[in-house]
Amino acid sequence: MMILTVTMNPSVDISYSVQDFKLNDVNRVEKARKTAGGKGLNVARVIKLLGEDVLATGVLGGTIGDYITQELMKNEIKNDFFRIDQESRNCIAILHDGKQTEILESGPTILVEEGKVFLEKFREQLAEASLVTISGSLPKGLESGFYRQMVEIGWENGIPVIVDTSGESLRQVLLHEVKPFAIKPNIDELSHLLNMEVDESMNGLKQLLNNELFHGIELIVISMGGVGAFVKHEEDYYRVTIPGIDVVNPVGSGDATVAGIAVALKRKQTVQDILKTAMTTGMLNTMEAETGYINLAKFDSLFDLVKVTKV
Ligand code: ADP
Repeated sequence: MMILTVTMNPSVDISYSVQDFKLNDVNRVEKARKTAGGKGLNVARVIKLLGEDVLATGVLGGTIGDYITQELMKNEIKNDFFRIDQESRNCIAILHDGKQTEILESGPTILVEEGKVFLEKFREQLAEASLVTISGSLPKGLESGFYRQMVEIGWENGIPVIVDTSGESLRQVLLHEVKPFAIKPNIDELSHLLNMEVDESMNGLKQLLNNELFHGIELIVISMGGVGAFVKHEEDYYRVTIPGIDVVNPVGSGDATVAGIAVALKRKQTVQDILKTAMTTGMLNTMEAETGYINLAKFDSLFDLVKVTKV
């Protein structure tokens, strides 16, 4: 059985490193990296690197779509996307002066009919899946309840679904009576969802997770970058702390965290170990220049430094 990773709006992610970035001027790039991107593809890569069987699905098209499938094949990641006639998108991240400026194309517009055909494909793919991850934004054209429908199809087939999205899509998922198995918002996404400034204080987060929106979700991982995570599992709350590490490129660390959760769940690890695995994969991603890449050789030593405390 495989972990099915969903990327509805994949991209070719282009990362430019620039010494000091100048507006309205020429910026020459010494280091350019191109990867098959979109959050779900980062998840797929990290799952594969962790040694689990993965099938990448979603929607893509055009020559950019071809590039994406070629890159996945190079990484020996099985993929079965719904193809459309339009081009998939490019997303550009400029890394400069310790900052990151992103230029994101919105990508193709999906026809309602295409969305329906995709959902049928998804339903069939579930026959081979033990777990589903859904990551990132929806392409234009699909209504904001699209992920909610996917969660419901997962539920009908008895397959747990992990949802990592934001904005109205996330709200729709949470408002529905059929709940996802897990979500992984960061502080920004949480603030946006609840329409308030969320801070990282433990009591505040605990109280906030009592919000009706979160009822019935088995695992909620609020990832907090360099300070780790705050977690609700069933009725228990956990503070997860991580060691200080040398961060090279934090892009995609949330996706690596989702991959860690998925693999740990598949391996039926304890809650403590699921959280340690998820933090470790997140940290390992930040230690590499390449997005959605982890060096497994460093896994065990970092894993042992993650502390999970029930609060
Ligand atoms: P997202 O990419 O979704 O915003 P986060 O930034 O919260 O997610 O990162 C997810 C996880 O990756 C964190 O919980 C942590 O384990 C690891 N991580 C991210 N940024 C850092 C950092 N600066 N230092 C150490 N670990 C990090």
